[in-house]
Amino acid sequence: MSRVVRIYLDYNATSPPFADVVATVARVLAEDFGNASSVHAFGQRAKAVVDDARQEVAALIDADAGEVVFTAGGTEADNLALRGAAEAVEPLGRRHVITTAIEHEAVLNTLKSVARRGWTVTTLPVDESGVVTPDALRAALTPETSLVSVMHANNEVGTIQPIAELAAIAREHGAIFHTDAVQSAGKIPVSARRLGVDLLAISGHKFGGPKGIGALWVRRGVRLAQAMTGGKQERNRRAGTENVPAIAGLGVAARLSREKLAANSSGFAELRDRLERGILEGVPGSSVNGDPARRVPNTTNISFDGVEAESLLIALDLEGVAVSTGSACSSGSLEPSHVLRAMGLPHGRTRNSLRFSLGAGTTPAEIDFVVEALPGLVTKLRRLTRAAAAVR
Ligand code: PLP
Repeated sequence: MSRVVRIYLDYNATSPPFADVVATVARVLAEDFGNASSVHAFGQRAKAVVDDARQEVAALIDADAGEVVFTAGGTEADNLALRGAAEAVEPLGRRHVITTAIEHEAVLNTLKSVARRGWTVTTLPVDESGVVTPDALRAALTPETSLVSVMHANNEVGTIQPIAELAAIAREHGAIFHTDAVQSAGKIPVSARRLGVDLLAISGHKFGGPKGIGALWVRRGVRLAQAMTGGKQERNRRAGTENVPAIAGLGVAARLSREKLAANSSGFAELRDRLERGILEGVPGSSVNGDPARRVPNTTNISFDGVEAESLLIALDLEGVAVSTGSACSSGSLEPSHVLRAMGLPHGRTRNSLRFSLGAGTTPAEIDFVVEALPGLVTKLRRLTRAAAAVR
């Protein structure tokens, strides 16, 4: 970390916490250390912190505080939603779940585990811009379908799904609808109520909160088995002593993100578009992946013909610029992105695409630096690739 220039364009992997979040976590850790389940004053003080944060999280997603369950992050929220719903509805005998090919591993791998319990999993395709069509969902529904899980915004390309439409179809069919809103909450307005879903997962570290804390919104009346067994915390939904400092930090991040949502959304979009324009104009053989209109404002995913994405990622890192080849979990694995593959991109393009994701700290000067640096780096890498091919 010796360089002066350090430009962080990987907010979809994680975001730097707001200064207020850091201060709140430290203060609550030191001062409000009571167990939120204790009857005495120390416990009640901690409980008040948790209650306040619950209100803030509920406000971020336009929900009732009583419907918010704190979890240890987005992965756990997805697990609680899918395992909890599957176990709760199993006695009815309808063991068919529908999801999409572009979900995060937190959903895809959890459903593999649900499949091992005797469930059938149908994975919906997406179109070339990464969108699931309502017709695809309608066609996949069977009398056995009791659960549907479709993400709100995709982490790699940013595409936003028509969740309200999809959830209405599931509801008509009597199926529970879960949405992973980890990449949309804090970036675009998210209303659990207006989306018409039953379960909605969010994660603190994606919008300026601490890592390892998130929430699952559970519509009142939705039956859910406990994914974590133990005490009666979180109204019996999620056992374990509450992580009060992280919950407090999540609450602050939710409030700040809600307050700044409108300004941030247009600010992110302006900078993202400036980056995109600059790259498309400056680098021949570059193209944008995903839906140009229906996507979160902070994300762009760009292919660079004839360049291995990992090499360009490293070259950018050496220039002080942090980007990603896709989801954090799969980067470094050199596996082509399952999202780009599902979108039907040619094999080469699934391996030469970078994700740039912006956030509250991104400045125009940083964007201009990247736009200036990229053409030279791409030309150099293409030359090296050609030279390597020639000696093979
Ligand atoms: N869902 C999506 C769409 C994500 O992008 C991520 C993180 O990358 C997760 C779930 C997992 O969230 P967490 O890191 O809080 O476990």
